[in-house]
Amino acid sequence: MNVPISASSAPLSPNKRAPRTLKVGGITPFTATDYPGKLAAVVFVQGCPLRCGYCHNPHLQPRTAASPLQWSRVLSLLARRVGLIDAVVFSGGEPTIDPALEDAIRAVRELGFAVGLHTAGVYPERFGTVLPLLDWVGLDIKAPFAQYEEITALAGSGAQARACAELLVQSGIDYECRTTMHPALLAEPALLEIAHTLAGLGVRNYVLQNFRGQGCKDAHLNACTGGSYPSSALVSRIGAMFEQFTLR
Ligand code: SF4
Repeated sequence: MNVPISASSAPLSPNKRAPRTLKVGGITPFTATDYPGKLAAVVFVQGCPLRCGYCHNPHLQPRTAASPLQWSRVLSLLARRVGLIDAVVFSGGEPTIDPALEDAIRAVRELGFAVGLHTAGVYPERFGTVLPLLDWVGLDIKAPFAQYEEITALAGSGAQARACAELLVQSGIDYECRTTMHPALLAEPALLEIAHTLAGLGVRNYVLQNFRGQGCKDAHLNACTGGSYPSSALVSRIGAMFEQFTLR
């Protein structure tokens, strides 16, 4: 039985730090689509510094003072799902924003789950720290790195994403890099440029995913979709650059 110890009665030694607590905005207890080939739960971490127009979870962008969902409760729920699911995916928001991510990943690993991460590659340093603890990563590549700010509204975000892509390729960990396509945001030459750059970095698994309006609050983006974008010729050309390629 775990007995809570108050800070006043049992101060931590200088070599120990208090466990940090993940700020969780929500959880999906069961999904078959967020970790390739595995049944998983998804933990949505609060907070994201980017402002992508097509964001499905804008309510997760701010970090509130109090966590909407206690991490201890989430961990208890996950413990009850041992044997029912294979993996836990940390998503968001942007999960690498949270200083408690590493501790949370370790706690989930101790339960015996494989661990996945959905990230937009915003914090290369923390990403590099948690990478060795992960089994699979889904890394969003939002634009040609030099034009990132046009989608994310955050200066310097392209360089951060590139650094994360390089770390990921070097890590040997299973992954996919994926780009959300929208004709008003990424013209076909931009899609081609992204693919060339990623292939040059050594990315082997690339996904082009169509924009979905679900959860998106941008009326303009929701109104202008479809047509012949992306052309089948472009998709074939991009697909040929990668060992594994998916259009979804
Ligand atoms: S990185 Fe993801 S969570 Fe953050 S604003 Fe963009 S789509 Fe939303």
